[in-house]
Amino acid sequence: MSAPIRNLQVNGARLWASLMELAQIGATAKGGVCRLAASDLDGEARRLFIGWCEAAGCTVRVDRIGNIFARRPGRDASLPPVMTGSHLDTQPTGGKFDGAYGVMAGLELVRTLNDLGYETEAPIEIVAWTNEEGSRFSPAMVGSGVFAGVFELAEGLARPDNVTGVTLGAELARIGFAGPEPVGRRPVAAYFEAHIEQGPILEAAGLPIGVVTGAQGQRWYEVTVTGQEAHAGPTPMPRRRDALVGAARMIDAVNRIGLAHAPYACATVGFVQVSPNSRNTIPGRVFFTVDFRHPEDAVLTQMDRDLRQACGEAASAIGLEAEVKEFWHFPPTPFHPDLIAAVRAAAAAQGYPHQDIISGAGHDAVYLARVAPAAMIFVPCVGGISHNEIEDAKPEDLTAGCNVLLNAVLECANTAS
Ligand SMILES: [Zn+2]
Repeated sequence: MSAPIRNLQVNGARLWASLMELAQIGATAKGGVCRLAASDLDGEARRLFIGWCEAAGCTVRVDRIGNIFARRPGRDASLPPVMTGSHLDTQPTGGKFDGAYGVMAGLELVRTLNDLGYETEAPIEIVAWTNEEGSRFSPAMVGSGVFAGVFELAEGLARPDNVTGVTLGAELARIGFAGPEPVGRRPVAAYFEAHIEQGPILEAAGLPIGVVTGAQGQRWYEVTVTGQEAHAGPTPMPRRRDALVGAARMIDAVNRIGLAHAPYACATVGFVQVSPNSRNTIPGRVFFTVDFRHPEDAVLTQMDRDLRQACGEAASAIGLEAEVKEFWHFPPTPFHPDLIAAVRAAAAAQGYPHQDIISGAGHDAVYLARVAPAAMIFVPCVGGISHNEIEDAKPEDLTAGCNVLLNAVLECANTAS
């Protein structure tokens, strides 16, 4: 049985103050933050966060990949925790809110429950995942990925710094965050993550809350088009097998495939290599990449078919060969219907206008969704801009997102299962 939505409210000024204090660690001249994973500054931010959690009465544990879990006990210690959080690391030219917001929103939620003397059935855990950004140690979302069993622990710890080659494991040990706890393999009742949208949709719609129903699937391709190199002067037009002309038609087709599945499809060619890339030689070979995204697998399958057909037709029309190789397939991640409903109900109970939205980016919640019910709450960011030092968000929107998070978490933490 679920408890009724209580419609409690957090202290928005305290949330903002904590975000601004945290943003001083790694603050850049342009108003952003540079706090790379497992750097000294990341260690400093982690210690500030842990100090705040302990002051709020939480028990803090660190696992072997450096994920931090701050637990507020519930009435029934045998129940799995309701978890909420995000990440403290940033891009090299990152902002104050990407990741930090989700962690500070979790902290504010716990502080509010303390103020009210509110005891939940299930424990609540605030989590800070290691190396979400993947800019210093690729790939992204390593901490949550190891927790969810997507990567082996040893694989995660061995990720090299992209400049010096020092490993994530060595750097975690150096900053004091190679914890003793085993990673993952424990039940989580629910995982909620509050995050800035990092896109323009909510701001354009004038809405403070996005109810995130899932994350887009992605299919990446490498296409190689082969024709024949020949002299640009003596070769008559009808005799040419120009790989670049074929590739140009294929690239245009990629764009049309994206438009045909609007509004959710994205289709991008972001990398092209022409050879021999000489002004008076007809191109004999072109290599390019394709990035398809859509929230539904069935549509991605259709886009895949369309791509192969378009490439085949463009090639055969002028005597080329086209090889379309799928490089990576990340299936769409729908979030849990009960948690989505809890977020929607919490937004409605607070009187916040909201809309359903799909996450275009990867988040820790996407990996958590593989091992636990998961959902996300988006709030608008100014101009839709993120991964940028000018990233900004309005205090009232951050407060709204945190209020929704609080009441959605309570809905799950008071459900005895
Ligand atoms: Zn993030």
